[in-house]
Amino acid sequence: MLDIIYRYDPARPAEHPYPADGAEALRALEQGNREFAALVDPLEAGGGHHTLLMPLDLEDLGVATRGESVLPQRPFAVVLGCSDARVPTEMIFHQGCNDLFVIRVAGNVLGSECLGSIDYALHHLGESIRLIVVLGHSGCGAVTAAVDAFLEPANYLGVASSHPLRAVVDRLLLPVRAAAQALEAAHGAEVSRRAGYRRALIESSVALNAALTAATLHQ
Ligand SMILES: [Zn+2]
Repeated sequence: MLDIIYRYDPARPAEHPYPADGAEALRALEQGNREFAALVDPLEAGGGHHTLLMPLDLEDLGVATRGESVLPQRPFAVVLGCSDARVPTEMIFHQGCNDLFVIRVAGNVLGSECLGSIDYALHHLGESIRLIVVLGHSGCGAVTAAVDAFLEPANYLGVASSHPLRAVVDRLLLPVRAAAQALEAAHGAEVSRRAGYRRALIESSVALNAALTAATLHQ
């Protein structure tokens, strides 16, 4: 059995240690992810009763300030992640309300609206934000579409006629090409003929896409 519980307990108010800097914020997210993984892993091994508890305080739910003023935002990290429904950002980092400023878009591509959202967060919430994260994930559908267009250009015809789809896939072709070159440099020119190449290219492209986006944001 598995319980994921969001709990407000007036007798035991939520302790909410605020990360002092980026390194501490990163440790908080990594620790939260370890706690989430520790919940899921035993289930895969079979059985048991496991609970993941997320303590909340009333202010972060907007209850304590109801009727008085608007709850101030105080996220400690910005996360640019994929829209993929299997990657619920707060849950996989074991964070609660008001902890993360999350932008989700297919393929976690850095379009101008995403950049504008991040820019807003840094300019208006800069006092609380310690870290910006670009989060890719395995088996990304958007990256897979770009990989398939790269491997078989005829597949791109289905994308080419859709401007909204191209806005996502076109941004992913650069990291896919870079990943293909990296695999070739590491494993030789014949690597694309080997079994499992498509899957390796997808996962390499996911990592490179996140890294290139982070580098672009840093600039
Ligand atoms: Zn995805």
